[in-house]
Amino acid sequence: MRKVPSSPRVALILLVAAVVAALSGGAAFQALAQGSAPTQTPYPTQTPYPTSTPYPTPTDEAETAGATGAEWTLADDEFTSLYPAGFRFSAQIASSAGDVTRARVVWSHAPGTQRSRPARYDAAADRWVASWEASGGDAVPPWLGVIYTWQATDTAGNSFLSEPVSVEYTDSTREWTRTEGEEIIVFTESLPEEVGQMVVDAMDQQRELFREAWGSLLSYKPRAILFGDNEAWVEWQIGEVNPRVLGTTVSDWGATVQRVSGNDYRDLAYGTVPHEVAHIYQDEFVGFLPVSWFNEGDATFFEANQQYDYLTRVRGIAASGRLPTLLDGSGPSIRGINARDGYDIGYTFWLWLTDTYGVEAHREVMQLIRGGVARNAALEQVTGLSANEIETRWRVWLGASEVAPTLFPTPTMFTFPTVTPFGR
Ligand SMILES: [Zn+2]
Repeated sequence: MRKVPSSPRVALILLVAAVVAALSGGAAFQALAQGSAPTQTPYPTQTPYPTSTPYPTPTDEAETAGATGAEWTLADDEFTSLYPAGFRFSAQIASSAGDVTRARVVWSHAPGTQRSRPARYDAAADRWVASWEASGGDAVPPWLGVIYTWQATDTAGNSFLSEPVSVEYTDSTREWTRTEGEEIIVFTESLPEEVGQMVVDAMDQQRELFREAWGSLLSYKPRAILFGDNEAWVEWQIGEVNPRVLGTTVSDWGATVQRVSGNDYRDLAYGTVPHEVAHIYQDEFVGFLPVSWFNEGDATFFEANQQYDYLTRVRGIAASGRLPTLLDGSGPSIRGINARDGYDIGYTFWLWLTDTYGVEAHREVMQLIRGGVARNAALEQVTGLSANEIETRWRVWLGASEVAPTLFPTPTMFTFPTVTPFGR
């Protein structure tokens, strides 16, 4: 655990030879994905996650045919966080073959969606400057990672792509504590100092479960940004605050942000954060999953602290004869007064599946869904049972006295994300 430095400055000088003329006009620039901005919508965003978009590297361009050759210089590259207003990039860029005609910066917060801004030339300072100004619709919280590259072209038609640089969208206006572990980077504000380490410990404790259940760990460390102070929480959202939303997880940010109320820090660290990180895994390893008992029960499966004994509660529902069916439609609610039903009942389904078929059954089901197989078909393939038999065995395992009603062969329902005040 350490206090964070106030403002990262990056200064590097790069000489890059072997650049190319093949990039004509802005075509390659425009080919880069422009993701839709994250919003205050709680997890998940409506943005399908572009998991495998590789970050461009200089090699990609150097290998392009038709190079005329130019020696590029990138000097005094600087990233400035202007949190909460945004951030600014500036650098000196020169080509041996001609004047630089244009430049821009491309960045991402986590592997996936890339954003960009054109740079303008500041003649007085002899620098190219690109700015991103936060606004209510696309504001991002402090402490996201920013991985960026410069791109430029010169009058001779050569193009340049710098090595990626990693910085952070720092907030130097408040006292933050940064705690980095093997699995997560935690930022806390107006919270007891031990909270960051608790989160690190919790994610360490869950590491092997994540690894087994998904086949591998995330390719990067997700971030948990935890606000103890409401003023700070409101500030980053720049005027578009939904008071019912206490947390947001966005895989394109590689982060979950939480407004912490109360003092159950153990549940925050061991319950909420692993749950939210599981949603990031869902996006990374599966792509878009409709919001339902299926993905909320799955995220709940990764919690190392339960707010109460979920299994006992669901066994009680089963004993009372009120256990809803799962596989014939949208299943139990995850919203409103019964919001916990979907989480708790969904959790018991994943618990049954992995108790019966091993944790690898989780990975197999998710991989099939990623490959385009419908939910029920994926479950049938992995268990070797019909959907009816799956439902019946899960109900019997829970102690339900009656068997499942005959299921309708309906496709998986698509539901839109909404605010879930009681869930996570
Ligand atoms: Zn959730």
